[in-house]
Amino acid sequence: MRLSKIKLAGFKSFVDPTTFEMRSNLTAIVGPNGCGKSNTIDAVRWVMGESSAKHLRGASMEDVIFNGSSSRKKVGQASIELVFDNSDGSLGGEYAQYSEISTKRQISRDGQSKYFLNGSRCRRRDITDIFLGTGLGPRSYAIIEQGMISRLIDAKPEELRVYIEEAAGISKYKERRRETENR
Ligand code: ATP
Ligand code: MG
Repeated sequence: MRLSKIKLAGFKSFVDPTTFEMRSNLTAIVGPNGCGKSNTIDAVRWVMGESSAKHLRGASMEDVIFNGSSSRKKVGQASIELVFDNSDGSLGGEYAQYSEISTKRQISRDGQSKYFLNGSRCRRRDITDIFLGTGLGPRSYAIIEQGMISRLIDAKPEELRVYIEEAAGISKYKERRRETENR
């Protein structure tokens, strides 16, 4: 499974619809300070269900919506779609039949988020479920951000364990158990 497209609209500095196509396994995003490199990574984490505005470098979730500039008015909603190439069938189970998987999240200024899976409305959980145990996800080790290496080096054993459990594919089952116990 490989992230092949990121489609952004109204998200942070990406007010106009913009599509990034990743045609190979290695993609670099380069550009001057403030051009939106980190915003692209925020976008990826946001679709995968990140629910903390702070982790997206904002004060409230509304801060992900384009807030206007000297030449443009602010907009009412943000949306991001991630398209994954699953032609190798590595995302198995019920998803194995799809060579392409699209996950999308939209938010409007009332703070309501809507999630879509291959175009159909779904729950946040349906999206987070796909990525649990794959190493991808809003806070997982597939995204190594500034400061993360030193955080890992300084981590307490129980914090490190979370990463190991994700890599071993057991975080999914722990999440299920937590849900059942909380019912
Ligand atoms: P650096 O090289 O300094 O890390 P960067 O390319 O990572 O820069 P980003 O942090 O992605 O830059 O982008 C910052 C820009 O995004 C700033 O100009 C900021 O004003 C703009 N921005 C962030 N949120 C919004 C928003 N809601 N509406 C409009 N612009 C926004
Ligand atoms: Mg940056």
